Amino acid sequence: MIVVLLGAPGSGKGTQSKLLEASYNLKHLSTGDLLRSRSKVRDELGKYISDKIDNGYFVSDEVMLKIIEEELANKTNYNGYVFDGYPRNLAQAIKFDELIKKVGRKIDLIINLDINDAVIVERIAARRVCKCGASYHLQSNPPAIENVCDVCGSKLYQRKDDNEESVRIRIKKYYELTKPVVDYYQKQNLVTNIDALQSIDEVHQSIKRVLEVYSSDN
Ligand code: ADP
Ligand code: AMP
Repeated sequence: MIVVLLGAPGSGKGTQSKLLEASYNLKHLSTGDLLRSRSKVRDELGKYISDKIDNGYFVSDEVMLKIIEEELANKTNYNGYVFDGYPRNLAQAIKFDELIKKVGRKIDLIINLDINDAVIVERIAARRVCKCGASYHLQSNPPAIENVCDVCGSKLYQRKDDNEESVRIRIKKYYELTKPVVDYYQKQNLVTNIDALQSIDEVHQSIKRVLEVYSSDN
């Protein structure tokens, strides 16, 4: 099964992807995590990626497609994938459709997490992350021990791009470039909108209901 989570930065894509990974054995493919990991190699590509992500700008479609192609070529024991952060513009959505067809698969569901700008800013300011990919919120989803990851015990940190200036750019890019992707998939009747202002568990239960209805019909 291939599920794509769409939504503005801070809408909860990473949080919900981790829950879907655990509940349905779907591999969480976060392009943000993949890019952050690749940016640690300090070669030309790594430096290019750091420069883009730290400032809130998109990495090129060519680089993104290559990363996704490589990921899909890896053999896994998962039941499918949950995509978080890709596709992020129309050109990527069109290339993604081609790639998914080429590998003999289809997109099963697109979940669009609906949020508003004030909540985005609040959530991103309070987000703390771990190098293992886990994401926390200082108030609504704190770790059991302050500043320590529940999953792997590492020290939490604030993402370099989770600052006011970068968030402003990322929200603007979301409306300009990513929102049209929602409309594109809406025309293919693939999209279910979910209220991302609900609690983390309520959003998870809402997504589970969508997956269960889909699975019983297919
Ligand atoms: P995205 O991957 O879409 O950028 P995250 O999953 O990292 O978003 O969530 C952004 C922040 O909001 C994190 O601090 C996360 O713990 C918190 N968060 C996610 N979903 C909810 C929710 N439903 N209610 C409150 N806080 C949430
Ligand atoms: P995220 O972790 O999803 O918030 O992504 C962090 C950053 O990685 C984004 O602000 C972009 O700079 C970059 N990024 C992630 N996914 C993509 C994508 N599909 N296309 C271009 N850039 C991306």
